[in-house]
Amino acid sequence: MPAPPTLKIIEIFPSIQGEGMRQGEPTVFVRLAGCDRRCSFCDTKYAWEGGEDYAVDRIIENVQRIRRRFPVRWVCLTGGEPFMQDVRLLVRLLKRDNCRVQMETNGTRYFATAADWLTVSPKPKGYLVRPEFQRLAKEVKLVVNRELDLAVIRRIRTAFPGRTPVLLQPESNRRWSQKRALRLLKEAAAAHLDNIRISVQLHKIIGLR
Ligand code: SF4
Repeated sequence: MPAPPTLKIIEIFPSIQGEGMRQGEPTVFVRLAGCDRRCSFCDTKYAWEGGEDYAVDRIIENVQRIRRRFPVRWVCLTGGEPFMQDVRLLVRLLKRDNCRVQMETNGTRYFATAADWLTVSPKPKGYLVRPEFQRLAKEVKLVVNRELDLAVIRRIRTAFPGRTPVLLQPESNRRWSQKRALRLLKEAAAAHLDNIRISVQLHKIIGLR
């Protein structure tokens, strides 16, 4: 008998989705371990390595237990970088349980999954994104760090279809980054770049994780 599929998991918890176009929706988060990008501004550095081995069935049981007292449909696979592990079975089983599945990724790795919503957050340096995401992303999120400028925003805006929103997200809601986001939004509007907006991290404002 083969061993059941396992994934390295950091944490599983209920909260609200604080970022992006799904902002405010109750969501169960499954945080997967592992990311090789090492962004200086990362607010989940504790997920870069380690994690506990969970059989996929155990993840499903945890999510089901949370959903019995917190009955929500959305489950968000985040990290770390969830595309560094084979989450295809997990996504399928979550969908079998009538969940809707979001995946948050930096966009550098890809395989086909049954996920309903892909959030792509390209990162410096390079802001590289696998071409599949240009078609599949429901939203693109850019952290407003000191390297983000109008040239990057223009490149990302051009790479994705106009219907896909591009969100400028101040780094950890810091004041300097909020000001920079506003300035970049004005510059983007002056350059006639469409469907770009600011998105702050709501969960941090209201004291949730
Ligand atoms: S890609 Fe995301 S998870 Fe990985 S280091 Fe950068 S901010 Fe952190």
